[in-house]
Amino acid sequence: MIVYVNEKYLEENDAQVNVNDRGYLFADGVYEGFRIYNGKIFKLQEHKNRFQRSLDELKISYSLKDEIEEVFKNLFKKNNYLKEDELFYYMQITRGVAPRDHGFQKEKPKAGIYAFLSKKKINLDAYNNGVKICTTADNRWARCDIKCISLIANCLAKQTAVEDGFFDALFVHDGVITEGTSTNVCFIKDDILYTHAATNRILSGVTRNFVLDLCKENDIKVVEFPLTTNKISDVDEAFLTGTSGEITPIIKIDNITIGNGKSGKITKKLQKYYREYVNNNFY
Ligand code: PLP
Repeated sequence: MIVYVNEKYLEENDAQVNVNDRGYLFADGVYEGFRIYNGKIFKLQEHKNRFQRSLDELKISYSLKDEIEEVFKNLFKKNNYLKEDELFYYMQITRGVAPRDHGFQKEKPKAGIYAFLSKKKINLDAYNNGVKICTTADNRWARCDIKCISLIANCLAKQTAVEDGFFDALFVHDGVITEGTSTNVCFIKDDILYTHAATNRILSGVTRNFVLDLCKENDIKVVEFPLTTNKISDVDEAFLTGTSGEITPIIKIDNITIGNGKSGKITKKLQKYYREYVNNNFY
């Protein structure tokens, strides 16, 4: 696979970064993950806005122009992808190369950019039949709204969940369910959708926000209020939202079965509205 690294397109095995890049030393960088439908980027402007916000919050002096689109087009061509390929596009920007020091250098280094475009099929079993997930302590930093490449707490939570036989984990902070390790989470009770507000405790997901728009368009009431773990057994439906999985039904949380243990009716409706939007706008 051909990847993009600091203005060059290279075979991934030949792509290299400087060991003093602050992304390597401090996880000092931000990223975005995009979904590609029919050769086009889904919700480009929303991703771009969030990317720029993450850069600004980390005080990385970099103004996005049209590199997301340009690099995407080139990676698509150079890798000989086809429109019908299901693709995932990743781009990260780090503060750049500087002698190791916690403080930033007065003279700002050139930001480091890495991007790849790879085939990634949606997990149809999870999408159709739902997943079992566990809860875990949210021991991440208090700026989960920044899409920072420092993801070790998320990786550990996911890995532990998988080792314990779950699909993924939901983070719990002070008894409140915040989000998944790479997804947001929504709950349905009496036909109302509940999800954690877009505070510093969660990433404001592009998919989450799109699902909330779909709810508004289709008269599904939304309350941006989180669920506490002691209320899990009360909910009728639950699902994860994220770029790769779109809307993934949750059928069990820890040892509690959600609803009748199958994908719920509003979850299925939202999956249908999502698909319709993609079919109408991308094909
Ligand atoms: N929450 C976290 C922690 C994430 O890492 C992600 C995506 O990577 C999301 C939520 C979902 O965001 P999006 O819908 O923009 O993919």
